[in-house]
Amino acid sequence: MIYLDNNATTRPSDGAAQGAHLASTALWGNPSSVHRAGQEVRHAVELARRELAALLGADPKELVLTSGGTESIDLAIRGVLGAAGARARPAGRAGGMDRAAVPNIITTQLEHAAVRDLARRLGEQGLAEVRWLPLDARGMADPAALDGLIDGGTALVSVQWANNETGVIQPVERIGELCRARGVPFHCDAVQWVGKMPVGEARQRDSEAARQGLGKQSSPSLPCDLLTFSAHKFHGPKGVGGLWIRRGVALTPQIIGTQEMDRRGGTENVPGIVGAGVAAREAAAWVADPTARARLATLRDRFEKAVLARAPGSVVNGAGCPRIWNTANIGFPRLEAEALLLLLSERGVCASAGAACSSGSLEPSPVLLAMGIPEPIAHGSLRFSLSRETTEEEIDRAVEIVAAAATQLGRSSGASL
Ligand code: PLP
Repeated sequence: MIYLDNNATTRPSDGAAQGAHLASTALWGNPSSVHRAGQEVRHAVELARRELAALLGADPKELVLTSGGTESIDLAIRGVLGAAGARARPAGRAGGMDRAAVPNIITTQLEHAAVRDLARRLGEQGLAEVRWLPLDARGMADPAALDGLIDGGTALVSVQWANNETGVIQPVERIGELCRARGVPFHCDAVQWVGKMPVGEARQRDSEAARQGLGKQSSPSLPCDLLTFSAHKFHGPKGVGGLWIRRGVALTPQIIGTQEMDRRGGTENVPGIVGAGVAAREAAAWVADPTARARLATLRDRFEKAVLARAPGSVVNGAGCPRIWNTANIGFPRLEAEALLLLLSERGVCASAGAACSSGSLEPSPVLLAMGIPEPIAHGSLRFSLSRETTEEEIDRAVEIVAAAATQLGRSSGASL
Protein backbone atom coordinates (compact mmCIF):
# COMPACT_ATOMS: atom_id res chain seq x y z
CA MET A 1 0.00 0.00 0.00
CA ILE A 2 1.28 3.48 -0.84
CA TYR A 3 0.25 5.89 1.92
CA LEU A 4 -0.40 9.37 0.57
CA ASP A 5 -3.12 10.13 3.08
CA ASN A 6 -2.27 12.85 5.57
CA ASN A 7 -3.22 10.68 8.55
CA ALA A 8 -1.46 7.49 7.49
CA THR A 9 1.66 8.72 5.72
CA THR A 10 3.10 9.99 9.00
CA ARG A 11 3.00 6.59 10.73
CA PRO A 12 4.69 6.60 14.15
CA SER A 13 8.45 6.27 13.83
CA ASP A 14 10.06 3.18 15.34
CA GLY A 15 11.54 5.38 18.08
CA ALA A 16 8.17 6.97 18.91
CA ALA A 17 6.43 3.58 18.96
CA GLN A 18 9.13 2.12 21.21
CA GLY A 19 8.94 5.13 23.53
CA ALA A 20 5.18 4.78 23.83
CA HIS A 21 5.48 1.02 24.39
CA LEU A 22 8.14 1.45 27.05
CA ALA A 23 6.02 4.06 28.82
CA SER A 24 2.96 1.81 28.87
CA THR A 25 4.87 -1.25 30.11
CA ALA A 26 7.52 0.19 32.41
CA LEU A 27 6.20 3.62 33.41
CA TRP A 28 2.72 2.82 34.63
CA GLY A 29 2.76 5.11 37.64
CA ASN A 30 0.80 8.34 37.78
CA PRO A 31 2.99 11.41 37.27
CA SER A 32 1.01 13.23 39.96
CA SER A 33 1.95 10.68 42.65
CA VAL A 34 4.63 11.77 45.08
CA HIS A 35 6.21 8.32 45.47
CA ARG A 36 9.20 7.21 43.46
CA ALA A 37 7.20 5.27 40.81
CA GLY A 38 5.15 8.40 40.15
CA GLN A 39 8.15 10.69 40.07
CA GLU A 40 9.93 8.52 37.50
CA VAL A 41 6.94 8.96 35.24
CA ARG A 42 6.88 12.71 35.98
CA HIS A 43 10.50 12.86 34.88
CA ALA A 44 9.72 11.07 31.60
CA VAL A 45 6.78 13.43 30.92
CA GLU A 46 8.91 16.51 31.60
CA LEU A 47 11.70 15.24 29.35
CA ALA A 48 9.16 14.78 26.57
CA ARG A 49 7.78 18.27 27.21
CA ARG A 50 11.31 19.64 26.82
CA GLU A 51 11.73 17.87 23.46
CA LEU A 52 8.40 19.20 22.23
CA ALA A 53 9.24 22.72 23.40
CA ALA A 54 12.64 22.51 21.68
CA LEU A 55 10.91 21.61 18.40
CA LEU A 56 8.92 24.85 18.72
CA GLY A 57 11.80 26.95 20.03
CA ALA A 58 9.62 27.58 23.08
CA ASP A 59 9.90 27.52 26.86
CA PRO A 60 8.67 24.12 28.20
CA LYS A 61 6.81 25.88 31.03
CA GLU A 62 4.58 27.52 28.43
CA LEU A 63 3.44 24.22 26.94
CA VAL A 64 0.13 22.57 27.85
CA LEU A 65 -0.08 18.97 26.66
CA THR A 66 -3.47 17.93 25.30
CA SER A 67 -5.22 15.05 23.57
CA GLY A 68 -4.25 16.50 20.18
CA GLY A 69 -4.81 19.44 17.88
CA THR A 70 -8.57 19.71 18.34
CA GLU A 71 -8.42 20.01 22.12
CA SER A 72 -5.54 22.45 21.85
CA ILE A 73 -7.61 24.65 19.52
CA ASP A 74 -10.60 24.40 21.82
CA LEU A 75 -8.48 25.46 24.79
CA ALA A 76 -6.96 28.37 22.87
CA ILE A 77 -10.22 29.76 21.54
CA ARG A 78 -12.59 29.10 24.43
CA GLY A 79 -9.84 29.82 26.93
CA VAL A 80 -8.94 33.25 25.55
CA LEU A 81 -12.62 34.11 24.99
CA GLY A 82 -13.39 33.04 28.56
CA ALA A 83 -10.69 35.31 29.94
CA ALA A 84 -11.86 38.20 27.73
CA GLY A 85 -15.47 37.64 28.83
CA ALA A 86 -14.44 37.68 32.48
CA ARG A 87 -12.73 41.04 31.91
CA ALA A 88 -15.79 42.42 30.09
CA ARG A 89 -18.24 41.42 32.85
CA PRO A 90 -19.02 44.11 35.35
CA ALA A 91 -17.32 43.36 38.69
CA GLY A 92 -19.34 41.11 40.98
CA ARG A 93 -21.62 39.86 38.21
CA ALA A 94 -21.24 36.15 37.70
CA GLY A 95 -23.95 35.61 35.07
CA GLY A 96 -24.14 36.22 31.31
CA MET A 97 -22.58 38.95 29.29
CA ASP A 98 -24.12 42.15 28.01
CA ARG A 99 -24.76 41.85 24.31
CA ALA A 100 -22.56 44.86 23.68
CA ALA A 101 -19.77 43.16 25.65
CA VAL A 102 -19.72 39.96 23.54
CA PRO A 103 -16.10 39.66 22.40
CA ASN A 104 -15.29 39.07 18.75
CA ILE A 105 -12.88 36.60 17.20
CA ILE A 106 -11.36 36.90 13.76
CA THR A 107 -10.60 33.80 11.73
CA THR A 108 -10.80 32.46 8.15
CA GLN A 109 -12.99 30.11 6.15
CA LEU A 110 -9.80 28.16 5.36
CA GLU A 111 -9.35 26.80 8.87
CA HIS A 112 -9.59 23.16 9.86
CA ALA A 113 -13.10 22.32 11.08
CA ALA A 114 -11.76 22.31 14.65
CA VAL A 115 -11.42 26.10 14.37
CA ARG A 116 -14.06 26.91 11.75
CA ASP A 117 -16.91 24.93 13.26
CA LEU A 118 -16.03 25.95 16.81
CA ALA A 119 -16.07 29.62 15.79
CA ARG A 120 -19.39 29.17 14.05
CA ARG A 121 -20.85 27.37 17.08
CA LEU A 122 -19.65 30.08 19.47
CA GLY A 123 -21.26 32.64 17.19
CA GLU A 124 -24.57 30.73 17.12
CA GLN A 125 -24.52 30.46 20.90
CA GLY A 126 -23.98 34.20 21.24
CA LEU A 127 -20.69 33.64 23.05
CA ALA A 128 -18.66 35.44 20.41
CA GLU A 129 -19.14 37.50 17.33
CA VAL A 130 -17.24 35.85 14.49
CA ARG A 131 -15.55 38.04 11.90
CA TRP A 132 -14.29 36.20 8.83
CA LEU A 133 -11.05 37.57 7.44
CA PRO A 134 -11.46 38.12 3.67
CA LEU A 135 -9.29 36.12 1.27
CA ASP A 136 -7.22 37.62 -1.53
CA ALA A 137 -7.55 36.79 -5.24
CA ARG A 138 -5.45 33.62 -4.79
CA GLY A 139 -7.64 32.40 -1.93
CA MET A 140 -5.18 33.21 0.86
CA ALA A 141 -5.92 35.05 4.11
CA ASP A 142 -5.55 38.75 3.38
CA PRO A 143 -3.61 40.54 6.14
CA ALA A 144 -4.45 43.92 4.56
CA ALA A 145 -8.05 43.42 5.65
CA LEU A 146 -7.17 42.53 9.25
CA ASP A 147 -6.57 45.98 10.67
CA GLY A 148 -10.07 47.11 9.73
CA LEU A 149 -11.66 44.12 11.49
CA ILE A 150 -9.86 44.54 14.82
CA ASP A 151 -11.51 46.77 17.39
CA GLY A 152 -11.63 47.09 21.17
CA GLY A 153 -13.85 44.00 21.40
CA THR A 154 -11.46 41.66 19.58
CA ALA A 155 -10.45 38.86 21.91
CA LEU A 156 -8.46 36.70 19.48
CA VAL A 157 -7.28 36.26 15.92
CA SER A 158 -6.88 32.63 14.81
CA VAL A 159 -5.25 31.77 11.49
CA GLN A 160 -3.59 28.50 10.49
CA TRP A 161 0.04 28.29 9.40
CA ALA A 162 -0.32 25.74 6.57
CA ASN A 163 -3.59 24.41 5.23
CA ASN A 164 -4.32 20.72 5.77
CA GLU A 165 -6.04 20.28 2.40
CA THR A 166 -3.96 22.35 0.00
CA GLY A 167 -0.71 22.96 1.89
CA VAL A 168 -1.09 26.71 1.23
CA ILE A 169 1.05 28.71 3.66
CA GLN A 170 -0.76 31.64 5.23
CA PRO A 171 1.01 34.95 5.96
CA VAL A 172 1.26 34.34 9.69
CA GLU A 173 4.32 36.54 10.28
CA ARG A 174 2.46 39.56 8.87
CA ILE A 175 -0.70 38.68 10.77
CA GLY A 176 1.37 38.28 13.94
CA GLU A 177 2.92 41.74 13.46
CA LEU A 178 -0.49 43.33 12.97
CA CYS A 179 -1.92 41.61 16.04
CA ARG A 180 1.05 42.60 18.14
CA ALA A 181 0.71 46.22 17.02
CA ARG A 182 -2.95 46.21 18.05
CA GLY A 183 -2.37 44.27 21.27
CA VAL A 184 -4.61 41.34 20.24
CA PRO A 185 -3.58 37.72 21.00
CA PHE A 186 -2.88 35.66 17.89
CA HIS A 187 -3.51 31.91 17.86
CA CYS A 188 -1.95 29.89 15.07
CA ASP A 189 -3.08 26.37 14.19
CA ALA A 190 0.32 24.98 13.23
CA VAL A 191 -0.71 21.30 13.14
CA GLN A 192 0.42 20.98 9.52
CA TRP A 193 3.60 22.98 10.05
CA VAL A 194 5.27 21.76 13.24
CA GLY A 195 7.67 18.91 12.58
CA LYS A 196 7.72 19.57 8.84
CA MET A 197 9.14 23.09 8.77
CA PRO A 198 11.31 25.09 11.15
CA VAL A 199 9.05 27.00 13.47
CA GLY A 200 11.78 29.56 14.05
CA GLU A 201 11.72 30.72 10.43
CA ALA A 202 10.10 33.89 11.74
CA ARG A 203 13.48 34.93 13.18
CA GLN A 204 13.78 37.90 10.86
CA ARG A 205 10.87 39.61 12.54
CA ASP A 206 12.11 38.63 15.96
CA SER A 207 15.55 40.06 15.52
CA GLU A 208 13.74 43.27 14.57
CA ALA A 209 11.64 42.87 17.73
CA ALA A 210 14.80 42.29 19.76
CA ARG A 211 16.32 45.50 18.40
CA GLN A 212 13.21 47.35 19.48
CA GLY A 213 13.61 46.08 23.01
CA LEU A 214 10.94 43.39 22.75
CA GLY A 215 13.56 40.66 23.02
CA LYS A 216 12.73 39.84 26.62
CA GLN A 217 9.46 38.31 25.48
CA SER A 218 9.11 34.58 26.07
CA SER A 219 9.80 32.29 23.09
CA PRO A 220 10.54 35.27 20.83
CA SER A 221 11.00 33.30 17.62
CA LEU A 222 7.31 32.41 17.36
CA PRO A 223 5.12 34.72 15.27
CA CYS A 224 2.05 34.18 17.46
CA ASP A 225 0.94 34.11 21.11
CA LEU A 226 -0.69 30.68 21.13
CA LEU A 227 0.30 27.78 18.88
CA THR A 228 -1.37 24.42 18.31
CA PHE A 229 0.46 21.25 17.28
CA SER A 230 -0.37 17.54 17.01
CA ALA A 231 2.20 14.75 17.35
CA HIS A 232 0.71 12.38 14.80
CA LYS A 233 1.55 14.82 12.00
CA PHE A 234 5.27 14.39 12.69
CA HIS A 235 5.46 10.60 13.16
CA GLY A 236 4.33 10.61 16.78
CA PRO A 237 1.42 8.67 18.28
CA LYS A 238 -2.18 9.71 17.65
CA GLY A 239 -4.20 11.47 20.33
CA VAL A 240 -1.50 13.72 21.75
CA GLY A 241 -0.58 17.32 21.02
CA GLY A 242 -0.35 20.61 22.75
CA LEU A 243 -0.89 24.30 23.04
CA TRP A 244 1.98 26.72 23.49
CA ILE A 245 0.81 29.81 25.39
CA ARG A 246 3.05 32.85 25.52
CA ARG A 247 3.64 33.95 29.10
CA GLY A 248 1.21 36.72 30.02
CA VAL A 249 -1.65 35.61 27.72
CA ALA A 250 -4.80 35.31 29.85
CA LEU A 251 -6.58 31.99 29.38
CA THR A 252 -9.38 30.24 31.26
CA PRO A 253 -8.87 26.45 31.64
CA GLN A 254 -11.55 24.35 29.95
CA ILE A 255 -10.95 21.05 31.76
CA ILE A 256 -10.68 21.76 35.44
CA GLY A 257 -7.97 19.99 37.39
CA THR A 258 -4.54 20.50 38.87
CA GLN A 259 -2.50 18.91 36.08
CA GLU A 260 -0.54 20.97 33.54
CA MET A 261 -0.12 23.72 36.14
CA ASP A 262 -3.90 24.02 36.56
CA ARG A 263 -4.37 24.71 32.85
CA ARG A 264 -5.67 21.29 31.77
CA GLY A 265 -7.00 18.76 34.24
CA GLY A 266 -6.80 14.98 33.84
CA THR A 267 -4.12 12.35 34.22
CA GLU A 268 -1.63 12.72 31.41
CA ASN A 269 -1.55 10.32 28.44
CA VAL A 270 1.91 9.15 29.43
CA PRO A 271 2.61 6.66 26.57
CA GLY A 272 1.41 9.23 24.03
CA ILE A 273 3.47 12.02 25.54
CA VAL A 274 6.65 9.94 25.79
CA GLY A 275 6.21 8.79 22.17
CA ALA A 276 5.57 12.38 21.11
CA GLY A 277 8.77 13.49 22.84
CA VAL A 278 10.81 10.97 20.85
CA ALA A 279 9.04 12.01 17.63
CA ALA A 280 9.77 15.67 18.41
CA ARG A 281 13.48 14.98 18.89
CA GLU A 282 13.62 13.12 15.57
CA ALA A 283 11.58 15.78 13.78
CA ALA A 284 13.82 18.58 15.08
CA ALA A 285 16.86 16.80 13.61
CA TRP A 286 15.05 16.22 10.31
CA VAL A 287 13.78 19.80 10.05
CA ALA A 288 17.30 21.15 10.59
CA ASP A 289 18.33 19.82 7.17
CA PRO A 290 16.73 21.88 4.37
CA THR A 291 17.93 19.48 1.66
CA ALA A 292 15.55 16.79 2.92
CA ARG A 293 12.58 19.13 2.45
CA ALA A 294 13.84 20.25 -0.93
CA ARG A 295 14.04 16.62 -2.11
CA LEU A 296 10.45 16.00 -1.09
CA ALA A 297 9.21 19.27 -2.62
CA THR A 298 10.77 18.16 -5.90
CA LEU A 299 9.10 14.78 -5.56
CA ARG A 300 5.71 16.42 -4.89
CA ASP A 301 6.16 18.68 -7.93
CA ARG A 302 7.10 15.67 -10.05
CA PHE A 303 3.95 13.87 -8.89
CA GLU A 304 1.73 16.84 -9.75
CA LYS A 305 3.33 17.40 -13.14
CA ALA A 306 3.05 13.75 -14.10
CA VAL A 307 -0.58 13.44 -12.98
CA LEU A 308 -1.57 16.63 -14.82
CA ALA A 309 0.14 15.35 -17.98
CA ARG A 310 -1.62 11.98 -17.76
CA ALA A 311 -5.07 13.19 -16.68
CA PRO A 312 -5.96 16.03 -19.05
CA GLY A 313 -8.13 18.69 -17.47
CA SER A 314 -6.82 18.04 -13.98
CA VAL A 315 -5.51 21.01 -11.99
CA VAL A 316 -3.46 21.67 -8.87
CA ASN A 317 -5.55 23.55 -6.32
CA GLY A 318 -3.60 26.36 -4.68
CA ALA A 319 -0.89 26.19 -7.37
CA GLY A 320 -0.36 29.97 -7.41
CA CYS A 321 0.26 30.19 -3.64
CA PRO A 322 3.26 29.37 -1.47
CA ARG A 323 2.78 25.77 -0.33
CA ILE A 324 4.32 23.41 2.19
CA TRP A 325 6.33 20.58 0.61
CA ASN A 326 4.14 17.66 1.60
CA THR A 327 0.74 18.41 0.09
CA ALA A 328 -0.68 18.05 -3.43
CA ASN A 329 -4.36 18.79 -3.93
CA ILE A 330 -5.46 17.82 -7.43
CA GLY A 331 -8.85 18.54 -8.95
CA PHE A 332 -10.26 16.12 -11.54
CA PRO A 333 -13.16 18.10 -13.02
CA ARG A 334 -16.53 16.36 -13.06
CA LEU A 335 -15.25 13.21 -11.30
CA GLU A 336 -16.56 12.23 -7.88
CA ALA A 337 -13.73 12.36 -5.35
CA GLU A 338 -15.20 9.51 -3.27
CA ALA A 339 -15.44 7.16 -6.27
CA LEU A 340 -11.87 7.95 -7.19
CA LEU A 341 -10.70 7.39 -3.62
CA LEU A 342 -12.30 3.94 -3.55
CA LEU A 343 -10.72 2.97 -6.86
CA LEU A 344 -7.33 4.14 -5.62
CA SER A 345 -7.72 2.23 -2.38
CA GLU A 346 -8.51 -0.97 -4.32
CA ARG A 347 -5.36 -0.43 -6.37
CA GLY A 348 -3.08 0.27 -3.44
CA VAL A 349 -3.02 4.04 -2.96
CA CYS A 350 -4.42 5.71 0.18
CA ALA A 351 -5.38 9.34 -0.40
CA SER A 352 -8.12 11.56 0.99
CA ALA A 353 -10.78 14.01 -0.11
CA GLY A 354 -10.92 17.27 1.78
CA ALA A 355 -10.43 16.89 5.51
CA ALA A 356 -10.33 13.28 6.72
CA CYS A 357 -13.34 13.79 8.94
CA SER A 358 -15.49 14.85 5.99
CA SER A 359 -14.55 11.97 3.70
CA GLY A 360 -17.55 9.78 3.17
CA SER A 361 -19.68 12.88 2.65
CA LEU A 362 -20.49 14.02 -0.87
CA GLU A 363 -20.14 17.68 0.02
CA PRO A 364 -17.24 19.41 -1.67
CA SER A 365 -14.62 20.82 0.65
CA PRO A 366 -15.67 24.19 2.16
CA VAL A 367 -12.01 25.20 2.08
CA LEU A 368 -11.74 24.73 -1.68
CA LEU A 369 -15.04 26.53 -2.25
CA ALA A 370 -13.89 29.42 -0.02
CA MET A 371 -10.75 29.69 -2.16
CA GLY A 372 -12.96 30.25 -5.17
CA ILE A 373 -12.37 26.85 -6.77
CA PRO A 374 -15.36 26.03 -9.00
CA GLU A 375 -17.73 23.37 -7.68
CA PRO A 376 -17.14 20.77 -10.44
CA ILE A 377 -13.42 20.85 -9.61
CA ALA A 378 -13.92 20.95 -5.81
CA HIS A 379 -16.21 17.88 -6.11
CA GLY A 380 -13.46 15.90 -7.80
CA SER A 381 -10.50 17.03 -5.72
CA LEU A 382 -8.17 14.67 -3.88
CA ARG A 383 -5.45 15.39 -1.39
CA PHE A 384 -2.16 13.50 -1.58
CA SER A 385 0.27 13.99 1.30
CA LEU A 386 3.91 12.99 1.34
CA SER A 387 5.90 12.33 4.48
CA ARG A 388 9.61 12.35 5.12
CA GLU A 389 9.57 8.61 4.34
CA THR A 390 7.94 8.87 0.89
CA THR A 391 10.14 7.40 -1.84
CA GLU A 392 10.56 8.11 -5.56
CA GLU A 393 9.35 4.60 -6.35
CA GLU A 394 6.15 5.17 -4.43
CA ILE A 395 5.52 8.46 -6.20
CA ASP A 396 6.14 7.03 -9.66
CA ARG A 397 3.91 4.03 -8.97
CA ALA A 398 1.22 6.33 -7.51
CA VAL A 399 1.25 8.45 -10.68
CA GLU A 400 0.47 5.36 -12.78
CA ILE A 401 -2.33 4.27 -10.48
CA VAL A 402 -3.90 7.73 -10.12
CA ALA A 403 -3.77 8.45 -13.85
CA ALA A 404 -5.27 5.05 -14.74
CA ALA A 405 -8.04 5.37 -12.13
CA ALA A 406 -8.95 8.90 -13.25
CA THR A 407 -9.08 7.79 -16.88
CA GLN A 408 -11.25 4.76 -16.06
CA LEU A 409 -13.66 6.79 -13.96
CA GLY A 410 -13.74 9.55 -16.54
CA ARG A 411 -14.72 7.05 -19.24
CA SER A 412 -17.43 5.44 -17.16
CA SER A 413 -18.89 8.78 -16.11
CA GLY A 414 -18.51 10.41 -19.52
CA ALA A 415 -16.24 13.16 -18.15
CA SER A 416 -13.49 14.51 -20.40
CA LEU A 417 -10.52 12.75 -18.85
N1 PLP B 1 -5.74 21.50 12.53
C1 PLP B 1 -5.25 21.02 11.38
C2 PLP B 1 -4.69 21.98 10.38
C3 PLP B 1 -5.26 19.65 11.13
O1 PLP B 1 -4.80 19.19 9.98
C4 PLP B 1 -5.80 18.78 12.11
C5 PLP B 1 -5.87 17.32 11.88
O2 PLP B 1 -5.69 16.83 10.82
C6 PLP B 1 -6.28 19.33 13.31
C7 PLP B 1 -6.24 20.69 13.48
C8 PLP B 1 -6.85 18.45 14.38
O3 PLP B 1 -5.81 17.77 15.04
P1 PLP B 1 -6.10 16.39 15.84
O4 PLP B 1 -6.48 15.38 14.80
O5 PLP B 1 -4.81 16.09 16.52
O6 PLP B 1 -7.18 16.69 16.79
